[in-house]
Amino acid sequence: MSNPIPANDDPLKPSNFLRAIIERDLEAGIYAGRHFAGKPGDAAQHAAGPLDTARIRTRFPPEPNGYLHIGHAKSICLNFGLARDYGGVCHLRFDDTNPEKEDQEYVDAIQEMVAWLGWSWETQSAGASTSHLFFASDYFDFMYRAAEYLVSAGLAYVDEQTAEEMRANRGDFTTPGVNSPFRSRSPQDNLARLREMRDGLHADGAMVLRAKIDMAAANINLRDPALYRIRRATHHNTGDQWCIYPMYTFAHPIEDALERITHSICTLEFEDQRPFYDWLLNQLAEGGLLAQPLPKQYEFGRLNLTYVVTSKRKLRQLVDEGHVQGWDDPRLPTLVGMRRRGYTPESIRAMVEATGVTKSNAWLDYSVLDGCLRSDLEGKALRACAVLDPLKLKLTNWAEIFGDAAHLQACSAPAHPHLPELGTRQFTLGPEVWIERDDFLELPTKGFQRLFPGNKTRLKYGYIVECTGCEKDAEGRITAVLAHIIADTKSGTPGADAVKVKGVITWVGVHEALAAEVRLYDRLFTEPQPEAGGRDFIETLNPNSKKIVSAWIEPSIANLPADSRLQFERHGYFVTDRIDHAAGKPVFNKITGLRDGWAK
Ligand code: ATP
Ligand code: MG
Repeated sequence: MSNPIPANDDPLKPSNFLRAIIERDLEAGIYAGRHFAGKPGDAAQHAAGPLDTARIRTRFPPEPNGYLHIGHAKSICLNFGLARDYGGVCHLRFDDTNPEKEDQEYVDAIQEMVAWLGWSWETQSAGASTSHLFFASDYFDFMYRAAEYLVSAGLAYVDEQTAEEMRANRGDFTTPGVNSPFRSRSPQDNLARLREMRDGLHADGAMVLRAKIDMAAANINLRDPALYRIRRATHHNTGDQWCIYPMYTFAHPIEDALERITHSICTLEFEDQRPFYDWLLNQLAEGGLLAQPLPKQYEFGRLNLTYVVTSKRKLRQLVDEGHVQGWDDPRLPTLVGMRRRGYTPESIRAMVEATGVTKSNAWLDYSVLDGCLRSDLEGKALRACAVLDPLKLKLTNWAEIFGDAAHLQACSAPAHPHLPELGTRQFTLGPEVWIERDDFLELPTKGFQRLFPGNKTRLKYGYIVECTGCEKDAEGRITAVLAHIIADTKSGTPGADAVKVKGVITWVGVHEALAAEVRLYDRLFTEPQPEAGGRDFIETLNPNSKKIVSAWIEPSIANLPADSRLQFERHGYFVTDRIDHAAGKPVFNKITGLRDGWAK
């Protein structure tokens, strides 16, 4: 089994165009008995591992230049999910061909998050485990040989035009490009120049290697795209070994082919690159450097989520300009942020399953993701009581009823209302309890069922009380609510009379409440599409996206480890913060409310 996540065998699971393509290809036996035609010892030999047949191979190819976000989660679940469902393999490949922006920190964080989502790049077979973790930079030698081959075959040339000249001569949608004066140099001259580039004889940016295709092509990507550039930068993997680096459009198809990817799935913005992808791989196959069948690229619509931005560059701006506190800020749609916020991997995978793949760049409403989260948490989050905006309630007849002002009455509640096997939580009721400030109104509004003078309400898991009034300070602010316990008229003990009440409130005993910091999060942006109409997304930041309150929590949750999710009754789902929560200093993040507070 390659992945611990069970396949979704739901017969109602929507099929999609990618599944249809894979099923067609498997049916046609395209991958049966595929073999490698290159020289022994080529990168292509080792990259794909032991040869096997009739399998599909997909890959998730992040560039390690930032943290993964929810859009990447879509790509991860899609690629690993297809491999799982069709008995194939999914590679985790770092597309690390751009040394200036890449870093080991990101390599580590990306691996951690793919694993957190529940996927594995290792496969088990006959007790042995094979890793399918790859780095594009491991193929630099092969890529360079491929470049020399293209030059020798007259399919690439070294261009010494300035960047400006190249841009001007590229033309545009209506004007064809103009051939570079360097385009007609002989293969021998080009080869010598390319080797000089490699050997560091030319300055950064002095020249580039370009494919020789067609400067008049309708698809601008085919107007002699750049393949290699000179850049003296230290690479996180290859150090200073190279001063030339392959361009993404050249490197990516080769990476796929060397790893013998069958279905190279990417987002729609790469659609126009597909002709070059095919051109390059076909040329290299003809030259005997790559084997058939070659990988095929398929595009799907990227995930856009309302009320957030999903672009590494914009997320970096939010972090760098201090709008949020780091990449793992719980308001960010980065996977590290969402994990810290309390999202479960199950809920993210469920969202991807539920939304499927299409050919359009649709917007997903945030409430769909939160719906997936709620249905996951509802069945497993333990319950507890917390008071987030505390006001004291004094039970004025406590001593009279119990004969002792210090008496504490034992109470219990289920740990989870539908999972009796999880047992009960124990706490006590005393003469003073914390309630929510908005559970009391001196002058009730229409339909208000909770505490107001003369009204009866149930203290959840406790007694029925009748509100008698409140206390105020000099400024007129309410400092305490007063109530008395309804006692049985005959025995004098509480609760024996069958009093019917409509309101139920949660509470925590003042004598045993624990202080906790609770971080309440709201949407990061006030607009569903923060950049709609070309506005600067920074302008639509929600100034109230984070609020910290001091809360009182029930003692049963005194010793939760970090990263524990639970439901505070009536309030929503919360998680102990994975960084700041500590014994004796509980810190909770609000994950989401019990229902969609934004639904109109
Ligand atoms: P960004 O757009 O945030 O800068 P990227 O596309 O540059 O991300 P990569 O590391 O190159 O980031 O992406 C790795 C893979 O994730 C690519 O195959 C890319 O198509 C996919 N991906 C990125 N964003 C999304 C998204 N919003 N929805 C689906 N897939 C995505
Ligand atoms: Mg991109």
